[in-house]
Amino acid sequence: MAEKKKSPKERVFLDAKDGSQVDLYSGEQRTPSARRSEARTKRIMAVVLWILAIAAEVVAIWTFNHYSVLWPSLAAIIADAVLCIIAAQFWKQSNRLDPPKGKFIKNQFGVIMTLIAFLPLGYFLLRNSKEIPSGAKRILAVVAAAAFVLTMGMSIEYDPVSQSDLDQAEQMAIEYGGEAYWGKYSKSYHFDPDCRTLLNSAQVYQGTIEEAFELGKTDPCDFCAGGGESKSILENVLGGDESAKDAEE
Ligand SMILES: [Zn+2]
Repeated sequence: MAEKKKSPKERVFLDAKDGSQVDLYSGEQRTPSARRSEARTKRIMAVVLWILAIAAEVVAIWTFNHYSVLWPSLAAIIADAVLCIIAAQFWKQSNRLDPPKGKFIKNQFGVIMTLIAFLPLGYFLLRNSKEIPSGAKRILAVVAAAAFVLTMGMSIEYDPVSQSDLDQAEQMAIEYGGEAYWGKYSKSYHFDPDCRTLLNSAQVYQGTIEEAFELGKTDPCDFCAGGGESKSILENVLGGDESAKDAEE
C-alpha cells in the first residue's frame, strides 16, 4: 500500500470484487457489454427466484386448504418471503448495472412481484376460516403480515439510478483516472482515494464506478466527485455533516 502523508490513520484498500487487499490503481474496467450481460444474468436469477417464490406461495395456499399442522404453512410463507427478498436484491443490482431509461415499473418491479407473491396468500388465508383452527390462523396471519411488510421494505427501489446518472459518473471516472472508492456503509462514491471524507475510513473499497453503483454507492461525493455542483448552497454548508456520515471505520 502506498504511504499517504495526509492520512491520520493507516487505511486498507480492498478490491470490490473479492474483498482482497489491493494496491491503488490496480483495478480493471468492465466493458459496457460485459456489464449489460452481467445485468441480464442477474435479471434472469431474479425472475427464477420470483417463480420459486410464487411456487412457495402456491404450496402455502395448498397447506391452508389441507390444513393439519402449523409448520408446513409457516415454512412456505417464510420461503416465499426469503425467495422474494433475494430476487429483489438481484433485480436492483441489475438495474444499477444497466439502468432502465426512466422506467418506474422496471425500477419498482420488486414491489409488483411482492404483491403477486403475497396478496393471494393473504386472501386464501383469511377465506379458509373453517379448515384452520383460529389460534393457528392468528399466528399465520401475523407471520404472513410481517413477512409481507419486510419483503416489501426490501424490494422497494429507494434510490433509482438513471442511465444519465451512470453515464455522468462513468465520464467523470474516466477523467479522474478510472477508479472509484467508497466506504463500506456510505452511499457515496469518491474518485480521490485521499478524499477527506475517506481519510478516517480504515477500509476503503476500490473498484470500477459500475461496481460502486451495483453496491448502491450512487451518491457522488460533494468534495471529489462533483456531488456538490448539483446541490444547493445550503447542502454544501451542511457538508460537514455529510463528511461525518461518510467517515467510517
Ligand atoms: Zn470524496
